[in-house]
Amino acid sequence: MIPPPRDLSRLCLHTMTTRPWAFEESVRRYAAAGVRGVTVWRSDFARHGPAAAGELIRASGLRVVSLCRGGFFPAASPGDRAKAVDDNLRCIDEAAALGAPHVVLVCGSAPGLPLAESRAQITEGIASVLTHAAACGVKLAIEPLHPMYAGDRSAVNTVGQARAICNQLKSPWLGIAVDVYHTWWDDGLEDEIGSAGREGTLLAFHISDWRVPTTDLLEDRGIMGEGCIPIRQIRGWVEGTGFVGFNEVEIFSRRHWAGDQERYLEDIKAAYLAHA
Ligand code: ZN
Repeated sequence: MIPPPRDLSRLCLHTMTTRPWAFEESVRRYAAAGVRGVTVWRSDFARHGPAAAGELIRASGLRVVSLCRGGFFPAASPGDRAKAVDDNLRCIDEAAALGAPHVVLVCGSAPGLPLAESRAQITEGIASVLTHAAACGVKLAIEPLHPMYAGDRSAVNTVGQARAICNQLKSPWLGIAVDVYHTWWDDGLEDEIGSAGREGTLLAFHISDWRVPTTDLLEDRGIMGEGCIPIRQIRGWVEGTGFVGFNEVEIFSRRHWAGDQERYLEDIKAAYLAHA
């Protein structure tokens, strides 16, 4: 087992983690707390456009790690699929203005379509925006989602399925975001991470914990150590491939959002050093 993180130098927070704080407050408080990277959500652009948001982050001494999220490609009608492609082109433009090296893709799934058909539409959708991504210097990171979301949020549920799309499209602008919350259950995870590492597609690593019991499909994630995910073991597999990116804390939790966010941020830092 690898040792715990030595310090906070690779700690990134997704702004959604502290949702009660406005974007600028999150950035200010993260910087003051010693967090080093920020993953921005598109909802953060409500008050600050992407360029201004990127400047604010860099002026605070933080790195822009990624933009969440594009995707949602599959749809029953060609018109809706075209709309999704347009939205992803906009998302890539926003990432470029923000200064984010990659966009995270929650790929989507159309209820009623066979999962294989949704995956084919995902592959087609990504293929149609890759040229623009390359022109903007922005990579796309497919994030496999836990199979409990296969019905409506993502037909890509394993790192293996994400690799299959990467291997089909073979672009240096396409890779994978591994999130422990979505992938920890997969008995092929260690091998798949190793293969993605060898293929050069491992772009991002997201952490949180799986609470038992989980009371909400979306908003009951735990702080590292509150659940049953072997986070450090998985981080060891990821870093074993040579990955030197950020450890991105991404927690959606109504329970934690209801409490004092400053204290919550301190709890996250302590949990990161103890359990990540
Ligand atoms: Zn994630």
